[in-house]
Amino acid sequence: SKEKGGNAFHYYHSDMNKRSMHRLNLEIHLRKALERGEFAVYYQPIVNLKNGSVFGMEALVRWHHPDWGMVSPGEFIPLAEETGLIVPIGNWVLRQACKQNREWQRKGYAALVVSVNISAIQFHQMNFVQIVMDALRDSGLPPGSLCLEITENVAMNNVSHILDTMHRLRELGVRISIDDFGTGYSSLSYLKRFHVHTLKIDQSFIRDVTSDEDNAAIVTALIAMSHRLKIKSLAEGVETQEQLQFLIAQGCDEIQGYVFSKPMPASEFEDLISRNKQL
Ligand code: C2E
Ligand code: CA
Ligand code: CA
Ligand code: CA
Repeated sequence: SKEKGGNAFHYYHSDMNKRSMHRLNLEIHLRKALERGEFAVYYQPIVNLKNGSVFGMEALVRWHHPDWGMVSPGEFIPLAEETGLIVPIGNWVLRQACKQNREWQRKGYAALVVSVNISAIQFHQMNFVQIVMDALRDSGLPPGSLCLEITENVAMNNVSHILDTMHRLRELGVRISIDDFGTGYSSLSYLKRFHVHTLKIDQSFIRDVTSDEDNAAIVTALIAMSHRLKIKSLAEGVETQEQLQFLIAQGCDEIQGYVFSKPMPASEFEDLISRNKQL
């Protein structure tokens, strides 16, 4: 027992060790979560500011642990990336999102574009394009109804491999968004070279866009730049009417955020599109 070995007692109670035990525990459970069916995909509407209607939705994974309840992606996605578990988890999310979107199209709702987050480690897999093709073929979803969200950091190394993958995805007809734009390290010249469709302006710039002049200047410049490059601008994390009015005035193309809707389970999202909710 803990009381017997003095050293072991201190060892097991050191803070660092508690943290690594927690991590190990999380990892053990994460490894089982997929086969136990503990993941779900939530959907958050993306709204077109030109006509106020839903353009598409971002697929966001949720982990519902039977004892712990909801574990936030902020906690388990980084661990899934470190351990490589993001590959099977991300693949499951991709396939689920394609199937679900196809199902809604089959039911006759207006065709939507579903956006799926792709970690750098997934994107850099040798067979990534094949994985996307399989998800499209097995679901029957038209390629133009799928958008892949990648972060700038994907482009950090091996540019020729990235260009090749981007080129093949583009030939497939799949869309590409650059996620969390402005927080990473990419060169602006990649934006054009990668033929991305949408630039997602990170929510950290939107949060106080109406009170912080620097953030207002950055957001204004990013929207103007994306227009000049013929790339759509999408503002993330839009929470207030003031932020929304600012973005409309700047000519931002799309928004996503609590001002319209939080992410929600598929059944609730279907209620929303069946009511044809408008901004
Ligand atoms: P992200 O891709 O930047 O996703 C947007 C996050 O902002 C989501 O958090 C969403 O719930 C949240 N959000 C949306 N609107 C608002 C708003 O108005 N205000 C605020 N404060 N937040 C808002 P979530 O779902 O907790 O996901 C966190 C991150 O986890 C995501 O950031 C993404 O990086 C990662 N993630 C989620 N699902 C997946 C997945 O299936 N695969 C991968 N690779 N990563 C995922
Ligand atoms: Ca995203
Ligand atoms: Ca984002
Ligand atoms: Ca983010």
